[in-house]
Amino acid sequence: MNFSDLGLSPSLVQAINQANYEAPYPIQVEAIPAILQKRDLLGLAQTGSGKTASYILPILEDLQGIENHRTRSIPILVIVPTRELAAQVEEVVRFFGKHLPRKVKSMAVFGGVSINPQMMNLNGTDILVATPGRLLDLLAKNAITLDRLRTLVLDEADKVLSLGFKLELDEILARLPKKRQNILFSATMDETVEGLIGKLLKNPLKIEI
Ligand code: AMP
Repeated sequence: MNFSDLGLSPSLVQAINQANYEAPYPIQVEAIPAILQKRDLLGLAQTGSGKTASYILPILEDLQGIENHRTRSIPILVIVPTRELAAQVEEVVRFFGKHLPRKVKSMAVFGGVSINPQMMNLNGTDILVATPGRLLDLLAKNAITLDRLRTLVLDEADKVLSLGFKLELDEILARLPKKRQNILFSATMDETVEGLIGKLLKNPLKIEI
């Protein structure tokens, strides 16, 4: 099994080769085709499993099919618990996106730093990686809209909830269009995570690594 067999195009495989990934990890073998088919996905997986590439690669592939835009409307949103993870995920997007024929614009936004530079640079963003509080601030300022979102990723959902972002999450979810793809990753499972899964995912493929 290699990355081309999973349905990824040559310019993505070129970047994967540069990362020296010899073969897809098990989570990638399962997640990449399912995400390409636009299925919802539940990944019970820890850091180190290869979960980031398992959703970023098919999302980059999907974006090749839509036109670049210059608007505030975000097609792909990745919600993460911390600024460190936001920066890390956005780095992965940039790395794997570098050879794509349709250029992909990504941004990481998080609190603890001034909002103005982030606001000025958002137009035309394809993939927004955000912590919940700063995301709500940007929505309140009309710096972005989520009414045409294609895919929502909630990474480390257990940590997002344990950091106390449940109300923020509910407010964000209320702003999303009904018809969309949902991807959720969590390292642990409890009642609050289960509640979120029930609310968010429709007939998801469940992957447990
Ligand atoms: P993650 O679980 O997304 O935090 O990824 C953990 C580490 O595994 C990262 O350093 C990735 O670059 C690396 N990685 C992900 N997929 C592969 C793969 N198929 N082959 C080798 N390394 C990988």
